[in-house]
Amino acid sequence: MYPFAYTKPADTRAALAAGARGGRYIAGGTTLVDLMRETVERPGTLVDISGLPLRDVQAAARGGLRIGALARMSDVAAHPRVRTAYPVVSQALELSASAQLRNMATIGGNIMQRTRCTYFRDVTAACNKRQRGSGCAALEGYNRSHAILGTSEACVATHPSDLAVALAALDATVHLLGPDGERSLALAEFLLPPGDTPDREHDLRPGELITGVEIPPHPQSLRSGYLKVRDRQSYEFALTSAAVVLNITGDVIRDARVAAGGVGTVPWRLTAVERRLAGARPSDQLWAQAAAVAADGARALRHNGFKAELLKRTVERQLRAVGGTR
Ligand code: SF4
Repeated sequence: MYPFAYTKPADTRAALAAGARGGRYIAGGTTLVDLMRETVERPGTLVDISGLPLRDVQAAARGGLRIGALARMSDVAAHPRVRTAYPVVSQALELSASAQLRNMATIGGNIMQRTRCTYFRDVTAACNKRQRGSGCAALEGYNRSHAILGTSEACVATHPSDLAVALAALDATVHLLGPDGERSLALAEFLLPPGDTPDREHDLRPGELITGVEIPPHPQSLRSGYLKVRDRQSYEFALTSAAVVLNITGDVIRDARVAAGGVGTVPWRLTAVERRLAGARPSDQLWAQAAAVAADGARALRHNGFKAELLKRTVERQLRAVGGTR
């Protein structure tokens, strides 16, 4: 570890002032402290925002649900409204990490967590995400866990958050507060694919912090669920995952949203799958037909070609689990 300054502001205004001076926000610390130990991250000042009043889970002004950025993963997963209306969120959170981590980690931090690419965490390896222009050791290295969707010549790392996949399927919005005031962005706009600048992972301006995420109102008939496929049953990141959100009324799929994790550089909406489902009648045949296009556009690397087929099977299984066997 190396020397750094630490401050714990008493209120949001003081936190923003410290952030505007270049301080790095920290709350649960479950990602950032690890990265500091490995010297991947070297912030000069940590601004501890864990005392700010951003923990509530409450009905949003326009309907739907607003989740404070500092709400703990475990509290959100257990929240009665989340469990009944948005089981995809509860399931994604519970499959994310150990109970100890879920008791510490926050919703905002979960979205902001950094990739598990081993080369990113090895400061002796070339990594454009850690240092722009230095190269990407994963391209010719061992890339079994890397992305097949949304990749670039500069970076092929997956986004690690299960929660973000569930929120992407629910069309969630991220609320931000900074020196210039409040703003809101769709999660899909907030998280950035790597392109030529993989070190720029999100549209967060200097000094801004996440204050919450908002799930828009959905019909009562909404069904949802999350499936995570990994090498072992716990304490592991996804090889593939599927968040499925279906609105089925009168035996017709009125609306379908499907997002995938473990395969994309950002949470990946499977729009081709959604198009196959919308307006159709649920059936086992439909689930298989829709899942067959889940990996359209995928670009495999040397060691991760299996992910395309695994993704199709993951999506089909979760469509059947949420939509029912018919
Ligand atoms: Fe770095 Fe991305 Fe390459 Fe991993 S895949 S080494 S994070 S540039």
